[in-house]
Amino acid sequence: MNNPFIELGIRHDIVNAISELGFENPTPIQEQSIPVLLTGSNDFVGLAQTGTGKTAAFGLPLLELLDFEENHPQALVLCPTRELCLQIAKDINNYAKKMNNVHVVAVYGGASISDQLRQIRRGVQVVVATPGRMLDIINRNAIDFSHIKYVVLDEADEMLNMGFQEDIDSILSTTPDEKKTWLFSATMPAEVRRIAKKYMDNPFELTMGTKNTGNQNIEHEYYVVRARDKYAAFKRIVDNNPEIFGIVFCRTKIETQEIAEALIKDGYNADSLHGDLSQQQRDKVMKRYRERSLQLLIATDVAARGIDVNNVTHVINYSLPDEIENYTHRSGRTARAGKSGVSISIVNSKELGKIRQIERVIGKKFIKAEIPSGFDVCEKQLFALVHKVHNVEVNEEQIEQYIPRIMDEFADMSKEDVIKRFASLEFNRFLEYYQNAPDLNAPADDFRSREGAQGDRFNRDGMRAEYTRLFINLGSVDEFNRGDLLGYICNNAKITGRNVGKIDVKGVYSFFEVVNADVDNVMNNFKGVDFKGRPVRIEISGEGVSSSNRGGGGRREGGYQKRESGYRGDRREGGERREKSFAGGGNSGGGFRDFSGKRREDRPERRKRF
Ligand code: AMP
Repeated sequence: MNNPFIELGIRHDIVNAISELGFENPTPIQEQSIPVLLTGSNDFVGLAQTGTGKTAAFGLPLLELLDFEENHPQALVLCPTRELCLQIAKDINNYAKKMNNVHVVAVYGGASISDQLRQIRRGVQVVVATPGRMLDIINRNAIDFSHIKYVVLDEADEMLNMGFQEDIDSILSTTPDEKKTWLFSATMPAEVRRIAKKYMDNPFELTMGTKNTGNQNIEHEYYVVRARDKYAAFKRIVDNNPEIFGIVFCRTKIETQEIAEALIKDGYNADSLHGDLSQQQRDKVMKRYRERSLQLLIATDVAARGIDVNNVTHVINYSLPDEIENYTHRSGRTARAGKSGVSISIVNSKELGKIRQIERVIGKKFIKAEIPSGFDVCEKQLFALVHKVHNVEVNEEQIEQYIPRIMDEFADMSKEDVIKRFASLEFNRFLEYYQNAPDLNAPADDFRSREGAQGDRFNRDGMRAEYTRLFINLGSVDEFNRGDLLGYICNNAKITGRNVGKIDVKGVYSFFEVVNADVDNVMNNFKGVDFKGRPVRIEISGEGVSSSNRGGGGRREGGYQKRESGYRGDRREGGERREKSFAGGGNSGGGFRDFSGKRREDRPERRKRF
């Protein structure tokens, strides 16, 4: 029987290479686009999710169409992120493994430009690039695009979201008019429609599923909780899914960092991925996640773009994205390569409208789920443990020598007693933590939940005032104490000290509260302000992680792993900050034992309001 890729028109050496990658049958997008693209005579618009096999859908036809006896750029693939750029270049190289003289270069920022220039000089036929670095190289006159026959715009909606419109215009203006342009996008907002119109001539359009529709293998769930219970609810969802391998999306870098720090502190196997980390730190985190030595990756939309990790079981929207299109991108990180997955959103009652909006855009209904009870979680964990024990691989050779002693230890117990004890080892921890755990589902008529960083307290004049908590990238390393920082803020923001609330000076950053009426003054007046040559950055702090929600089941493996990230200084600061700054909202009571056997002081879910 013929290989289905051969029937689509792909030659044997490529088919042999992709067979080794496990590609037996083309995915729907490959099946429909490959025959069209192989003609080489059409512009093309493909509306398809990430994870559907897009790379091969354009990569295989490129390998068929280009002339690899010639050593000049003939195809340019533009994509939004460095991760995706590297992935595409690697994929095309893999498809071409059995071909001769195929040269693919990955051109992206944050890495040595001279290496990339050297590869270009040696001769390449396929350039895979992120727009910024590509433009840089074009501006150095270091590449000749006069022989470009095909331009692929991959994840076009993402590139536009990230503000690459002008760069794309400039890059494309250096390519010949006769080239063919193939555009792939997960969603089709008006901006993408516009660039399709601008760069393409009567393109062949292919829509997989309905427009903007997400991957059909994804189940969308939402949980309604009070804003203050969000972190506890989130942990309960995680605890209720013992085998979770997930990506958790936050809205800001600060929130991402805070949630990751809180989770690590609570014994979960988590780390963060956001734009304040260096490329090297991000690579390390991604490596650990890919290798599955991390169970939860806490990420911002931008940092998680282009992540192609298979078998992600859950995407959790800790905060809903501002742009609905981003919801599709987020959820598309699960259910890749034909697998299924769950996209979870944790919302408060004010955000239900947004869920309905997303439903309309993706054309799929969300399932309203209930935060499991403490009892449900304990049961889930118990059986996960039982399952694990049942399936564990026994190293007969090594364990043999200890068996007589172990048998001796248990000589006075029945088989049932021994099993009970093993199961209790882990189970007790959850039982203890979750006994008397409250219902975290928001009552249907609850409209009282408050959002964001805003709080309602008394200001320095003893008047009731609403404050917003702001982040500033200056701290004690810049030789600020609270008084200095207050003066510095008031001088620059041109506000009175009476309108500034609590100030928390940390190492490389600080937090301060300001009455809501002055938030715009602070944000606007700090624009363009430098401190010793460094731009001062002020952001509205995320919702924070209330100490009322701290603690949790946690993961034995993760909590005490040595962390590799070089972000330690900040992290420690963050942890310490949370302990202090949320002390007012904390709860008292028992709490679960941490892994060292010590009792934690906070009982996370019995709540005291301030
Ligand atoms: P992509 O959408 O190109 O990022 O592909 C998503 C994942 O599906 C990648 O891990 C690919 O290796 C895999 N993949 C792509 N095409 C096929 C295929 N025909 N059969 C099996 N796996 C595939």
